[in-house]
Amino acid sequence: MGKRLGVMGGTFDPIHYGHLVTAEEALHQFELDEVVFVPTGQPWMKEHEVVSPPEDRYLMTVIATASNPRFSVSRVEVDREGPTYTIDTLRAMKELSGGDLFFITGADAVLEIFQWKDPSELFEMAHFIAATRPGYDIAALEEQVPGHDGISNMSIPALAISSTDIRARVARGQPIRYLVPEGVVSYVGKVGLYR
Ligand code: ATP
Ligand code: MG
Repeated sequence: MGKRLGVMGGTFDPIHYGHLVTAEEALHQFELDEVVFVPTGQPWMKEHEVVSPPEDRYLMTVIATASNPRFSVSRVEVDREGPTYTIDTLRAMKELSGGDLFFITGADAVLEIFQWKDPSELFEMAHFIAATRPGYDIAALEEQVPGHDGISNMSIPALAISSTDIRARVARGQPIRYLVPEGVVSYVGKVGLYR
């Protein structure tokens, strides 16, 4: 029997407890066997922003997920040249696993994905799990991708953490301990990211 595989895409610049709680909750609520984190290569949505090198983001994701036997990290987007698209990643993951795919994203990111790609093709590849982030208005999602059974909403414990905020904190010299795993705090300091 095929596995139930969660796919958690993200820039992970850096990965934080919001991401980890979301993946763990999806694992539990949707009875997944495993969650694969997929750090983006060159995120085309963020073309005009400075994004840390893929290798740093990949390594931080490995460090953050190392202690969880059901979490792993894929290099599929990091190793791919040019912009990355969710559909290509889902195809790659499908080839690898052959089982059922569950694409886990924040509700905001789901909207971005369906703005640009043919939804029917995406729904063929995976079931979508939209995590509602603190302060997010779920009505907006339901309005734009109306009542599709290919998307499930999942509410997660409110964690008002974002990578944007963490980068700003590092730049201002504020602590990020307890917002990201200990190993990520060390890595950010060692490499000198976000200063
Ligand atoms: P940035 O601030 O740079 O956009 P981010 O914190 O949103 O970073 P991403 O790497 O862009 O992190 O997010 C990857 C995925 O995780 C997205 O689907 C996003 O919606 C989701 N996500 C991010 N932060 C949280 C959080 N605190 N709770 C739940 N989901 C989150
Ligand atoms: Mg984001």
